[in-house]
Amino acid sequence: MTPTDDLYVLYRGPLASCNYDCPYCPFAKRVDPPELLRADRADLERFAGWVEATTDRRLSVLFTPWGEGLTRSWYRDTIVRLSHLPHVARVAIQTNLAARTGWLAEANPRVAALWATYHPGQVRRETFLDRCRDLLARGVRFSVGVVGLPEHHDEAVALRAALPPAVYLWVNAADGHVYTGEEERRWTALDPRFGDSVRPHASLGLPCHAGETAISVLGDGTVRRCHFIPAPIGNLYDGTWRAALRPRACTNSLCDCHIGYVHLKSLRLRDVYADGLLERIPVAWPLPSSALPLPIVAARCPGAHPPPPARSRPA
Ligand code: SF4
Ligand code: SF4
Repeated sequence: MTPTDDLYVLYRGPLASCNYDCPYCPFAKRVDPPELLRADRADLERFAGWVEATTDRRLSVLFTPWGEGLTRSWYRDTIVRLSHLPHVARVAIQTNLAARTGWLAEANPRVAALWATYHPGQVRRETFLDRCRDLLARGVRFSVGVVGLPEHHDEAVALRAALPPAVYLWVNAADGHVYTGEEERRWTALDPRFGDSVRPHASLGLPCHAGETAISVLGDGTVRRCHFIPAPIGNLYDGTWRAALRPRACTNSLCDCHIGYVHLKSLRLRDVYADGLLERIPVAWPLPSSALPLPIVAARCPGAHPPPPARSRPA
C-alpha cells in the first residue's frame, strides 16, 4: 500500500448518553433507551466487519460518539479487535476516561489510542491522573485535553504540572468564548498549539482532505465528507464510498473543530501530527525541555469530550 491508500475514518453511531454532567454539553447525563443501545451495538458490529474486510486500504479510525463510548463493552471490544488487524494503523476514541482501562491489556498498544478529556467538576484530578498513569504503565498512546473555559484554567495548570512531559495536553477553545490577548497567552502557555483552536478557520473554497482521504461515517453507513457537512457522498456498505473519494474544496464558511480542520490542506496539520493525527499527539512532542511552556514537576506515574450538533462534543 502507498500513502495514497490511507483512509481516515471518523465513526459516530447513535449513542448519545453520558455518565458525566458537564454544564457545557447537550449530552450531559443523557440516558439512551435500551433499543437505541442495541442499535448502536449492532451498527458498531457491522462497521467493525467493514473494517476487517477492507484490506486494500490502510485504515485509521477515530470513534467520536456524541456521548461516552468506553462505558459500553462494545466500544472496548471493538477497539481491541480492530487494533490487531494488520491494515489498521490506528484505532482511537474520544473519551472522558471515566471507565477503567484494564481492558486495554488485550489491545495492541501500537495501534489503540485514546483522546482523553479532563472535565473539572466531574471527576477529581487525582482520579483522572490515576487513569493517565495506568495508560502510561501500559504503553498506550493518549493525549489529554481540557475545554479552555476561564474556570478550568487553574485545574489545567495543575494537570499539566502533574503529567509527565511526554503527555501532550491540548486545549480546545470554548464554544462562543472570545479570547482576549492575555487569555490566549495563558492558554498557549499550556498548549503551544492553542492558536489552531482559538479562532475558526476560514475554509470556504479551500481544498480539504475530507472527502478524499478522510470520511465521516454514521451508524447506518451513511458516508459524509466530515461531521460538519451533512450532505451524504455515499454509503459504506454498498461500496459507493469508493467512487465518491476525490479532491474537494470545503463548502462551509468556517471550520472550527479540531477533528475537521486537521484535514484542511492549507494548515498542513497532517505534517504536525503525522501518526498521531487521530489521537491528537504532535509528532514533535514532547518539545525540548528548554521550549516547554511550564516547568514540569515529577509525577507519581511510573513512566516518569455543548457543542451544538454542527460541532463535535468537547470530549
Ligand atoms: S474544512 Fe472542515 S468543514 Fe470543510 S470539508 Fe474540511 S473538515 Fe469539513
Ligand atoms: S462533554 Fe463529554 S464527558 Fe461531558 S457530558 Fe458531554 S459527552 Fe459527557
